[in-house]
Amino acid sequence: MLTTIIRSGRSALEDAKVWTLSAGQMNHIESANKKMTVKIEKMENKQPVKVERPDHTISRKQIDPDALKVLYRLYRHGFKGYLVGGAVRDILLGKSPKDFDVVTDARPGQIKKLFANCFLIGRRFRLAHIRFKGGKIIEVATFRKEPDENEEIESEGTERNNTFGTPVSDAFRRDITINGLFYDISNFSIIDFVGGLKDIDRERICIIGDPHERYTEDPVRMWRVLRHAARLNFSIDEATASAVASHRHLLMQCSGARLFEELNKDLNSGFSSSLFQLFHDFGVMPCLFGKMGEFLEESPDAMARLIELLQVVDSASGSQKGLSPEVKYTLLFWPWAEYLFASVDSRGHDMVKLLNDAFLALDMSIVIPKSLRANIIQAACILDRMYAAMGTSRMRWSLKKRARYFDASIVFSIIEKAGVLPVKDPFEEIFREKYPSAAGRYQRRRFRKKTRTAQKV
Ligand code: ATP
Ligand code: MG
Repeated sequence: MLTTIIRSGRSALEDAKVWTLSAGQMNHIESANKKMTVKIEKMENKQPVKVERPDHTISRKQIDPDALKVLYRLYRHGFKGYLVGGAVRDILLGKSPKDFDVVTDARPGQIKKLFANCFLIGRRFRLAHIRFKGGKIIEVATFRKEPDENEEIESEGTERNNTFGTPVSDAFRRDITINGLFYDISNFSIIDFVGGLKDIDRERICIIGDPHERYTEDPVRMWRVLRHAARLNFSIDEATASAVASHRHLLMQCSGARLFEELNKDLNSGFSSSLFQLFHDFGVMPCLFGKMGEFLEESPDAMARLIELLQVVDSASGSQKGLSPEVKYTLLFWPWAEYLFASVDSRGHDMVKLLNDAFLALDMSIVIPKSLRANIIQAACILDRMYAAMGTSRMRWSLKKRARYFDASIVFSIIEKAGVLPVKDPFEEIFREKYPSAAGRYQRRRFRKKTRTAQKV
């Protein structure tokens, strides 16, 4: 509550009416308000490091032509047009950016007037999406500042001036220094208010501002710190890293749907194994995966197995025929599910129910959508049957009729062969390799049917 008041633009006295504060608290708030004003003034006075065109490597050839069109049109109409975030970072690092985000001093209404293909989205802070052929979207945002919690509540549904900011406030509200760089289309220079260039050079991930404040405002920034360290193989600044250990529990308060989105990004990124290694090293696993995270923390073998499986997911992510979400998520939960299956006698147990109950009891912060959860459970139970068959030579081929059989077959191949065999049914291939003469009930029935038809003729 205290932070809410400190960050509010209203006077402390006004707030005191709402929350009835003690005199000591009031003094604290007043001095904090003063500090805040000083901080904002300091920030606004900050002179950026400017790197002119001849002294950096960003060329317009590396920028998406549609993003360039947007930048130029803003500039021609008298507005600032800066490329920002991941695009500037990735080009400087010699990588090709995933998306090109633009920031400007034009207000959303003004942006809309400039582009016929512009759609305004978002309720609290309006963003412009400029749509191009092939579903490409260039996101254009007006410079903003870190929103006050109170302002956000008040400004729902309206476009209020106090959410907009300046280039400097916009740079400081970003997550890590290497994501806070601007590329200015007016003179092709790089503008750095936050020390991002130095950190690119040092290969270091550093949160912008005080890590305690920034993680408390948005705990997902901890995930982003670890993500970028994993993707770029950068070290993490000491204060940025040590505050993850002291604030990781805040991840448990985040929206489960938002965490699921973040997880999806990483399972598709090609760097999930390095990220999970960092989750493990920073003790984040239980904060995201509840009891499964605790289990993986206490079982180094299971954790090592998970990392190996994610390495396969990562190497498949670049290929055209990527793995389905069901396959990826079944792999993610398999080391834990396998342990659970091994601890019960499957005879006389409804394994689907057992796994479903155990899943719900995990108390995870990440919310896996119900339908995906049901599919993971189905695939894991089929996998359990596949392993039983590998031990006994008896396989119930009727399982092939189950919706998730082929996902399970691919997961089986990844677990056993560290890759997907190039056949329709990798499990059957591996099973028949081990038991060439085993027929299996499903096949026997089909065989009998065929002979009966043959006799009739
Ligand atoms: P990617 O290559 O995954 O797209 P990115 O850094 O561009 O990486 P985005 O999620 O596209 O990530 O975000 C765009 C930019 O928005 C970031 O570079 C960063 O400046 C800012 N940003 C995103 N999330 C946050 C956050 N939680 N807090 C502060 N700034 C953020
Ligand atoms: Mg991006």
